[in-house]
Amino acid sequence: MASSHVTKRVGVFGGTFDPIHNGHIAVAGSVRDQLDLDEVLFVVTSDQWLRENPHVASAADRFHMVELAVDNVAGFTASDVDIVREGSTFTVDTLVDLHHQLGIWVELYLIVGADSAASMDQWRNGSEIGDLAKIVAVGRPGQEFSVESLAASHPASGAEYVVGPMVDVSATRVREFLSAGRSIDELVAGVVAEYIEKQGLYR
Ligand code: ATP
Repeated sequence: MASSHVTKRVGVFGGTFDPIHNGHIAVAGSVRDQLDLDEVLFVVTSDQWLRENPHVASAADRFHMVELAVDNVAGFTASDVDIVREGSTFTVDTLVDLHHQLGIWVELYLIVGADSAASMDQWRNGSEIGDLAKIVAVGRPGQEFSVESLAASHPASGAEYVVGPMVDVSATRVREFLSAGRSIDELVAGVVAEYIEKQGLYR
């Protein structure tokens, strides 16, 4: 696509968001600002295939928490494209569907944390991802990562690396804090903490 025809630069940030936490929000904001993106879509997985443990909140709850967290944040939008498609989520399908939804003059930027970027060689049809979106790998505390160390055949070998805000939070930690009865106020947005409390999630 000739760059002069690009009308919109859209970040695609996929995840289980189980639940969405401050690390996600900080990463998306940092990439949006550094790459001058018009919008970031938070694309909530319907199902998952690369994680050892099944997720513990329903897609509806995870999507709703993302909606709450991004509400009123300029340029942040929750996307249910993977939930609507149903079945296991594969990023190539997400990107194809988004191209159909958004039109050909949109340029997609797939945002992945360093841990996810490193695992992209295991993703289904991972080699096609670079044709559908520019890949942006973002630093994550505790994750060694460098684009240069990847084999040329690795889908993330052509990624742009952004150090990002390096916020040491994971959804696993949020769930662990909740099951231990600890406060998650420092880890997630207030509206998300309230929803988790009200729905009795992760207990
Ligand atoms: P879990 O602990 O359940 O594995 P998670 O915190 O990694 O969850 P996901 O929803 O699985 O959250 O992640 C979605 C995307 O966000 C992935 O690309 C992941 O690498 C990235 N990500 C999550 N947390 C961070 C963080 N603190 N810094 C950078 N990237 C992150």
